[in-house]
Amino acid sequence: MGSATARLSALALIGIAAPAVVVAALGYVSLRHWQSSAELLFREQARDVAVMAAQKVDMMLRLADEAFLDRLQTQLAAGDDSPAALDRLVDEAPLVRRLYLVDRGGRLRYPSAWREGDATVFEPAVRALPAGAWERGSKRRVVAGTPVCLAVLWTARREPVVAAYARDVETLRRDVLESSLGSLESPTILAVLDAAGGAVYSRAPLERAERVLAVDLGEALPDWRVAVYAPPGTAPRDVVRRQVMMFTGAFAGLLLMLGAGIVLCWRLLRRETEMARLKSDFVANVSHDLKTPLSVIRMFGETLELGRVPDEARRREYYRVITRESERLTRLIDNVLDFSRIEGGRRRYELVPTPVEPLVRDTLEAFAYPLEQQGFKVEVHVATDLPEVPMDADAIGQALANLVDNAVKYSGTERVIVLDARREGERLALSVTDRGVGIPPSEHGRIFEKFYRVGQSETQGRRGSGVGLALVRHVVRAHGGEVTVQSAPGRGSRFTLWLPLRER
Ligand code: ADP
Repeated sequence: MGSATARLSALALIGIAAPAVVVAALGYVSLRHWQSSAELLFREQARDVAVMAAQKVDMMLRLADEAFLDRLQTQLAAGDDSPAALDRLVDEAPLVRRLYLVDRGGRLRYPSAWREGDATVFEPAVRALPAGAWERGSKRRVVAGTPVCLAVLWTARREPVVAAYARDVETLRRDVLESSLGSLESPTILAVLDAAGGAVYSRAPLERAERVLAVDLGEALPDWRVAVYAPPGTAPRDVVRRQVMMFTGAFAGLLLMLGAGIVLCWRLLRRETEMARLKSDFVANVSHDLKTPLSVIRMFGETLELGRVPDEARRREYYRVITRESERLTRLIDNVLDFSRIEGGRRRYELVPTPVEPLVRDTLEAFAYPLEQQGFKVEVHVATDLPEVPMDADAIGQALANLVDNAVKYSGTERVIVLDARREGERLALSVTDRGVGIPPSEHGRIFEKFYRVGQSETQGRRGSGVGLALVRHVVRAHGGEVTVQSAPGRGSRFTLWLPLRER
């Protein structure tokens, strides 16, 4: 059986492991595949969003610039270029932080002086204007570096001036970037980065977000860029990693369950096989146990019938043998019948207050002859303070008889049996002690299982059905009690029935 089940389990394991490996590999490959295409798609979408955003910002900025320059041009063309009028104009245009007007000769026309540090930025920018820029008749906007915007405008006196101005970054952020990008629908985060790469604007916090790509913003802000960020955990790689984890987890769970199923099945199978073996042993043992007393009875009966026993004392002994063997037979058959009743759930117990002493004596009485025959020394201690105990006297008597029977069966050369009935708290303790072969501690739990017999009982030539102790345990449990064993190999055994003194 061992090698067959081992082969079966190995087969089952291979049957699971092989498809599992294939499924895992396929899953991995397809996830990788999916990841790369998802990444591609994600980048494409991000680029579209970024380009669209850049165009939008560029357009809004152009419109704002045009509007301001239009007003400035109108004012200059009308000859209204007094510093006070220009101051007002700048005040009304929040996007324009500082405005300078420079004529072709490089003279500052408005305001009267450069403000702190501006000369170093604006003057070179104006000087760098291509000569052609001054010639054209229309207004021309040139951007020289992000902070500086230059446009050639024409005055009432028909001479060109360069309007150079710096944008107010805060207004730019609020009025242009936020209003143009804030409404764009996208699961990603849009941000505008300045020349140094710092985020001037972002729709959501960028910490832990992952940069997907960045595109140039456009002519209006040449050094700036629009960047797309994936919020934490939303990049395709993260999504795939999560999927892989989920997949692996589910897969591991599945394998675990399959494994547990196999182990369970295997154990069940083993139990069943073991049970089948125990049952067939049981049948063989019971048949043998039935046959022995029967043949003894028959032999003695026939001898008596033939009148071959002249001696009266002999005859009486033969009668006693016949009675004893019939008792044994009855006990055996009772055991088997009760056992089958218990198995079928049909065994009923009737608990009646019963004195303990007579029960113990009656039970021993049935063994008087074999005990005497085999030279057993029997001690009985029944405490005097015992009340009547609620019990099914037949059942408890049978349980006690089984214990005595075992004590006889499993005794070696030291033939002593002690029966002891005492009160322990709210319970009656009924012990049967022998000095026989004993039971190894590892078997203490199993001997009460049905059909179970300690391995060596067979080899020691003691037949038995293996249902005796199972029956004992069932009986005491039905009384709300318990049976315990203290035993060690070679040191004898002590079985104790514990019965509650009061019915529950
Ligand atoms: P059996 O018919 O084999 O005696 P039981 O259910 O009465 O079946 O007992 C189960 C096993 O417990 C026995 O096979 C024996 O190995 C062990 N056993 C029971 N009583 C004793 C005892 N008094 N001393 C040693 N072993 C015992």
